[in-house]
Amino acid sequence: MSFDDEFLELATKGIRIGHNRSPEGEHSEPIYATSSYVFDSAEAAAMRFTGEDKGNVYSRYTNPTVAIFEKRLAAMEGAEMAVATASGMSAILSTCMALLKAGDHIVCSKSVFGTTIGLFNNYLAKFGIETTFVNATDEKGWDAAILPSTKLLFLETPSNPLCDVIDIQKMADLAHANNALLVVDNCFCTPVLQTPIALGADIVIHSATKYIDGQGRCLGGAVVGSETLMTEVLAFLRTAGPTMSAFNAWVCLKGLETLSIRMKAHSDNALTIAKWLSDQSVVEKVYYTGLPEHEGFELACKQQKGFSGMLSFSVTGGKEQAWQVIDATQMLSITANLGDAKTTIVHPATTTHGRLSDEQRMEAGIGDNLIRLSVGLEGVQDIINDLDRGLARIR
Ligand SMILES: *Cc1c(COP(=O)(O)O)cnc(C)c1O
Repeated sequence: MSFDDEFLELATKGIRIGHNRSPEGEHSEPIYATSSYVFDSAEAAAMRFTGEDKGNVYSRYTNPTVAIFEKRLAAMEGAEMAVATASGMSAILSTCMALLKAGDHIVCSKSVFGTTIGLFNNYLAKFGIETTFVNATDEKGWDAAILPSTKLLFLETPSNPLCDVIDIQKMADLAHANNALLVVDNCFCTPVLQTPIALGADIVIHSATKYIDGQGRCLGGAVVGSETLMTEVLAFLRTAGPTMSAFNAWVCLKGLETLSIRMKAHSDNALTIAKWLSDQSVVEKVYYTGLPEHEGFELACKQQKGFSGMLSFSVTGGKEQAWQVIDATQMLSITANLGDAKTTIVHPATTTHGRLSDEQRMEAGIGDNLIRLSVGLEGVQDIINDLDRGLARIR
């Protein structure tokens, strides 16, 4: 686009940035299903390989469809550059492999995606990179865990499944005072509801598999940040190869086109459901950042533009009652996936957080009676009716 992209509204960025129409005049972005590219001459090939000429060489390096997704997401996050990856986990792995070395240390929130904990403990540790896990909202605990070798602070906010909210700006200040980088996994909010870079974070991670695709069609991920840092991440990706495919990039960039309107609708539905759940006699507690009684409410109002579609609630009783509620619903999808147009329901203690010990789960506050919802885009009354069917089993 010819006018200054920086000043567009977020919804416009999601729809318009990154695509230079080809002479064919296509309206929708093309999928470049090609592994490699052809040069006009031996000399032109040589110039591509040295980097003198900035064109495409091979799709592990660059692909025009992937490049549209990257430009669009970077613009939405207010960052210089984004690097697309095959999945959210490969975004986290690529960040660590590019920026850390043996002897370096990570401080990580205990309330992050379970596989992230597995990656840090089971794989990075094998290569001499140690991680200390701290309680998400314990600011003194974060400070106390930092060592001279600490290079990364890693967090998700709001957290899964209890929606703890962490102060991104404070964590960025803490990281920078200790010569470390702050990495924020922005999967639950997306740039529509939260832009961590504007709050001081150095790197944003996405599992594009979730809200960015938003319709459960493909895996994808991204790392977002300054050109200096992203150039290092890109160098790892080009060497190791966990890049995003052109088709998945196309699905995800189409997802970005509707992300603004979807995140608002997810948030509206979730708030209505959180309020309805709060009034139910067999619901003990509702964990949703949009409820004024939630601990993270004020901070969420400050650093987020909305509350997202993720919420949890505990029912009276234990695992048996929670499972009864889940099994008595008819429309909701019983799956651990999230960020989908379809509402999903899951029992964290026996699925997403099933690998934790009983003690770790207790400490994390994930009881046997806890149920997590990823509130979708169906008519809100239909979602409520289905939850009501579930809760009726234990009334
Ligand atoms: C799903 C998820 C991931 C991992 O992403 P994949 O695309 O499944 O590899 C990372 N972080 C969060 C918060 C997630 O929900």
